[in-house]
Amino acid sequence: MPRYSIVVPIFNEEATIPELYRRLCSVLDCLDGETELILVDDGSRDQSLLLIRELHERDERVCYLSFARNFGHQVAVTAGLNFARGEAVIVMDADLQDPPELIPRLVNQWQRGYQVVYAQRTQRLREPWFKRLMAHCFYRVLYHLADVEIPIDTGDFCLMDRRVVDLLNAMPERNRYIRGLRAWVGFRQTAVLFDRAPRHAGNVKYTFGKSLALAINSLVGFSKVPLRLSTYLGLAAAAVSLLMGLLVMYWRLFAPNSPLTGYTIITVVVFFLGAVQLISIGILGEYVGRIYEEIKGRPLYTLSEVGGFQTHTARRTVFRPEKSPHSTQVTSERDGNG
Ligand code: UDP
Ligand code: MG
Repeated sequence: MPRYSIVVPIFNEEATIPELYRRLCSVLDCLDGETELILVDDGSRDQSLLLIRELHERDERVCYLSFARNFGHQVAVTAGLNFARGEAVIVMDADLQDPPELIPRLVNQWQRGYQVVYAQRTQRLREPWFKRLMAHCFYRVLYHLADVEIPIDTGDFCLMDRRVVDLLNAMPERNRYIRGLRAWVGFRQTAVLFDRAPRHAGNVKYTFGKSLALAINSLVGFSKVPLRLSTYLGLAAAAVSLLMGLLVMYWRLFAPNSPLTGYTIITVVVFFLGAVQLISIGILGEYVGRIYEEIKGRPLYTLSEVGGFQTHTARRTVFRPEKSPHSTQVTSERDGNG
């Protein structure tokens, strides 16, 4: 069994894979134990899977999973964690924004007795100001609203002890905001600071839509404050209508020539209440939609190909649909060495 597993989600990263592998290799050679490198192809449409297969054939440390379609970054990380065998599991992005050279520092803290060592960004180099601003605000809002303390400016780049990974794997929920779940399990956690480098090559794969979905997922998954918000909005609307009523009475009695006709006020009030109701229904819908997702109980991902994991049959069978909530259905088109 390897001592370390490194999980890397990959979506259309053909331009970064060779450099990622090169930089990872020089780090892995310095670690004090065997390592497996789990590359999770999240339904890439470029040459990524070909490159991954080549690496697997060249280097027995490289194992891989390939999704039957794009399921998203968080699901790709989840799949990697499901299959990882190491005593410590490191999760990192493929685009080298998470420097592999930081891994020995993460390992060092783990050896000192921390079960979760997360990498915390001190600054983001050469990222667009809009993205930096949104990320800055989002992490702080989440920090204040979430039920658990999710450290600010931390991504998925981290090291987790086997105990933590087993707990994450046992969690049945489908809304998988790994940073939140990782904070939720507890244990001894610490940060390692780093400057986030710019992307090595290729375009960003987290589109604005995907980032927004992740932000909403994290808020809905870790806070009930948005639900309460509709109550507050309703109360605020009631207060405003009361005020408006008083104003109308005043105008009728003391200012009959007021330019505000009844129509204007009615229109404004109707729009305002309509907005409040739609926002409340929308918020409620976010929660109801997630309940619907959970009860459908579909597998979290489907695999079209698995490579490596020779000694891994036992762990893989654990993820059959009837046994695990986020099961993998191996609809194997080609099943490497697995
Ligand atoms: N990624 C993925 N599936 C997706 C989108 C992204 O596996 O649907 C991977 C991507 O290949 C990269 C990591 O997630 O390894 C982070 O993506 P990206 O660098 O585009 O986002 P950032 O976090 O830098 O905004
Ligand atoms: Mg990136």
